[in-house]
Amino acid sequence: MNVEKIMQKLEQRYSHEREYLQAVREVLESIEDIVNENPQFEAANIIERIVEPDRIIQFKVQWVDDKGNVQVNRGYRIQFNNAIGPYKGGLRFHPSVTPSILKFLGFEQIFKNSLTTLPMGGAKGGSDFDPKGKSNNEIMRFCQAFMSELWKYIGADIDVPAGDIGVGGREIGYLYGMYKKLAGEHNGVLTGKGKGWGGSLIRPEATGFGNVFFAKEMLKTRGQDFKGKIVTISGFGNVAWGAALKATQLGAKVVTISGPDGYIYDPDGISGEKIDYMLELRASNNDIVKPYSYEFPNAQFHQGKKPWEVKCDIALPCATSTPEAIEVFMENKILFAPGKAANAGGVATSGLEQSQNAMKLNWPADEVENKLHQIMINIHESCVKYGKEDDGFVNYVKGANIAGFMKVANAMLDQGVV
Ligand code: GLU
Repeated sequence: MNVEKIMQKLEQRYSHEREYLQAVREVLESIEDIVNENPQFEAANIIERIVEPDRIIQFKVQWVDDKGNVQVNRGYRIQFNNAIGPYKGGLRFHPSVTPSILKFLGFEQIFKNSLTTLPMGGAKGGSDFDPKGKSNNEIMRFCQAFMSELWKYIGADIDVPAGDIGVGGREIGYLYGMYKKLAGEHNGVLTGKGKGWGGSLIRPEATGFGNVFFAKEMLKTRGQDFKGKIVTISGFGNVAWGAALKATQLGAKVVTISGPDGYIYDPDGISGEKIDYMLELRASNNDIVKPYSYEFPNAQFHQGKKPWEVKCDIALPCATSTPEAIEVFMENKILFAPGKAANAGGVATSGLEQSQNAMKLNWPADEVENKLHQIMINIHESCVKYGKEDDGFVNYVKGANIAGFMKVANAMLDQGVV
């Protein structure tokens, strides 16, 4: 395989899709060797086929705001690859949403979902709608308008969307209500549902828990565990909350959380009621963490800054991180887990929600958590299998990309050119 040649073609065709091109390049560079060792992939032109989404659905979303003004947004669903299972992936409502961003996320989702060991293809969707400052009724009307288009393209065995940035339990509720009305069916078409109507226990905390379970396995490779470790966390949403909860349960001290306004440093540790308070902060819908320092006066608020200046043993980015940061980790042989492996616990638990819906029963919390834990252990094992370098250092980025790719590529081979 010639990565440069493939990239050149893609760059010509999608010159303005920076995020998508960068994601494809990262994956192709890591799988280059394995593809060259497996000529059957080249013969079936797997690479050119896997980088192209199966279809991109774009639609208009019109809704009326509280002042009576008619608003227009763009809605999308990118069904990227369904070789190993029905399309699966979140919906993001954020002004930064563009086809390029969703193609990048949808492409990544193929490999993330493959890593979970569950039968889930890759997809992503969303809208450039900005939920910030919107009333509850506006959110409901927007979700209904969005679903009035999307419902035609999804289904429990076709494509199963879920939440992502800007789409939480409330939005999934409104989206589901509209789907049910239009389709006339109550089934597992969305995940992240409320626990009284088909949602899985542990789903809200799953991404954060999964993160910590994965980090636990990484620590084990160096003979260590979470006990007594100082942990810095960025973000203060669902992922950060779940991660803080599990890291604290395992004996670590979480000292930071952050928001768009800056970060909180709490030398006493963010545990117990302080973790519950994170949920209140998020529910206030203001997207700021500063109020934490009024509530718990020992904590300091650092305006406009990121928490990475605080000394720590383990950094858990539960918001976003930059590619430059990853290079610094690699150069210094600091263990780094890519999002598609470390964050796979969320979608994995979505997969467990699908299983429960299909069987029409609910598993207790400990059963879901044990399954999630085992999945994260398996993902870690796959990363080590494909990512261990000659000096013993585990390149998790490479390992995750190869492990995720192999399963999908083999499925595509088995199923022929369709
Ligand atoms: N948005 C989350 C992710 O990107 C969850 C997706 C899902 O549960 O389908 O993995």
